Amino acid sequence: MVSRPFFGHIIDGEEVESADGARFDSIDPWTREPWAEVALGGAAEADRAVTAARRAFDEGPWPRMGFAERGALIHRLADLIEAHAAELALADSRDMGKPVADAKGKDVPRTAQNFRFFADHARLAMAETLPMDTGHHAYTRYEPAGVVAAIAPWNFPLMLESWKVAPALAWGNTVVLKPAEDSPASATILARLALEAGIPPGVFNVLHGYGPESAGAALTTDPRVDRITFTGESGTGRIITGEAAKNLTPVSLELGGKGANLVFADADLDIAVDWSIKAIFTNAGQVCLAGSRLYVERTVLEEFLDRFVAAAEKLVIGDPRDPATQIGPLASQTHYEKVRGYVENAAGKMLTGGLGDGWVVKPTVIVDAPADSAVQCEEIFGPVVTVTPFDTEAEAVAAANDSPYGLNAMVFTENLSRAHRVAAQLRAGTIWTNCFFIRDLRAPFGGFADSGWGREGGNFSREFFTEPKAVVMAIAT
Ligand code: NAD
Repeated sequence: MVSRPFFGHIIDGEEVESADGARFDSIDPWTREPWAEVALGGAAEADRAVTAARRAFDEGPWPRMGFAERGALIHRLADLIEAHAAELALADSRDMGKPVADAKGKDVPRTAQNFRFFADHARLAMAETLPMDTGHHAYTRYEPAGVVAAIAPWNFPLMLESWKVAPALAWGNTVVLKPAEDSPASATILARLALEAGIPPGVFNVLHGYGPESAGAALTTDPRVDRITFTGESGTGRIITGEAAKNLTPVSLELGGKGANLVFADADLDIAVDWSIKAIFTNAGQVCLAGSRLYVERTVLEEFLDRFVAAAEKLVIGDPRDPATQIGPLASQTHYEKVRGYVENAAGKMLTGGLGDGWVVKPTVIVDAPADSAVQCEEIFGPVVTVTPFDTEAEAVAAANDSPYGLNAMVFTENLSRAHRVAAQLRAGTIWTNCFFIRDLRAPFGGFADSGWGREGGNFSREFFTEPKAVVMAIAT
C-alpha cells in the first residue's frame, strides 16, 4: 500500500495529532480516491489552539514587536511560499481539483503578494492626528485586536486564507486558522513555513476539522477569541454571527454571490467575450465573484452568444495536473451532487454543457431561464451561466440589482459616461468595467446584503484586525 501524506494541526509551534488520534481522508476529486490523511480536530483541539494563540498574544513577543521586525518575518514567509510554490499548488490541486497550473501561476503568487503587501501596509500606514481648537491634540493608535479565528472555504484555499492571516499577523494579532475540510493540506504547509520563517510558536496555529459541532463551531463560541473572520456560504455566515453575538465577538463575513455581468451593444465584443468566459468558468465556476448572470443587450445577443458558446466549448477539461487543463472536476462529491441538481433541473434551454465524467460539469450555458428560476437566482458555485437579453440601460441595472447578493458586477461598454453611471447604480461591493478579478490590495473588497459584512483590503483590513484607540492630550500653554 502506498503511504499517504499526513497533515497535522499546527499548535504552539508543533505539528500534532488530535488528542484521540482521529483523522479524516482528503479525497482527490479527479481520482476520487483519498490522497492524504488529516488530523480531525474538535472542541479539545480548538481549546488547545486558542490557548496557544491567547498565550502568544498576552505574553509573547509578536504583538510587542515593531512593524519592521514583524514585517521582515512576514516577508521571509513570503519568500518561502514562493520557494515552495510547486508543493503548495499541488496540495490545493489534489485537495479540491483546481488545475495545478492556475494554483501555481496565480494563487500561490497572489498569496505571497498578500503577505508582502500587508507587511508593508502595516509598516507604512499613517494614522490620524487631530489638532483640536480646545488646546488639546488627539491621535489614533491602531492596536492589535488579539486572537483571531479565521475560517476559510475551499475554492481558493491558500489565497483566501492569506487574505485573513496576512493582515491579522501584520497588525500584531495571533491566529487560529481553520481551513475547509475539503482543502486542508496547504494550510498545514503554510504554517510549517511560518515556523521556518521564524514566526514564533503560537502566533499562527492551524486547526483541522469540520464546521458544525466540530472544530469550526468550537472556535466561534470561544470567548477568548477577539475577532472572527469568515469566508463561506451566506447561511454559514448567519450561524457564525449568531454564535459570535453571544460573546459580542466582532465578525467579518465574505459570503456568497451571484454576480451580474452586463454586456452593452457598444462593448468591444472581443473583450466582453474573453472576460465573460473567465468570469464564469475560472476555477470551474467555483468562485464567489463568478459572473453567473449574464445580461446582454438584445441587438448583440446572437453574435455574443455565438462567440461565447464557441469559446466555452474550446475550454480544455481534464486532469488538473495536466498543464493544458483549464477545467477540472468540482471540489467534492457533495458539491458535484449539488451542481448536478441545478444542471439536471435547470429551467430554460441549455445551449452547451451538461455533466462530464466523474465529478466534472462541463461549461454550461443556459438561455430563457425565468427570472425567478433556481438556476437564475441561486448561487450554483459551478460552471453554469444564464444569459438573458435586455433592451435598455435601466432594465439592465434593475435586473442586475434584483438579487439578495451584492458581491460584484461587471460592465462591458465603450461608453465612458455609461460605465460610470451604471457603476454608481449597481448595488455590489466591486464593479469591474471591461475586466474581471483585477485587484488593488488597498481597495475595499466585500459585499452588500447577503454577500457579507465589512470589507477586506488595506485600511479596511486594519479596521477589523485592530482596536483603534484615541489618545487625547492637553497641550500646556
Ligand atoms: P461553507 O460555509 O460551507 O464553509 C466554509 C468554512 O466554514 C469551512 O471551513 C467550514 O468547515 C466552516 N463551517 C461550516 N459550518 C460552520 C459552523 N457552523 N461553524 C463554524 N464553521 C463552520 O462554504 P464553502 O462551501 O467552503 O465555500 C463556498 C462558499 O464560500 C460560497 O458561498 C462562496 O460564494 C463563498 N465564498 C465567498 C468569498 C468572498 O470573498 N465573498 C470567497 C470565496 C468563497
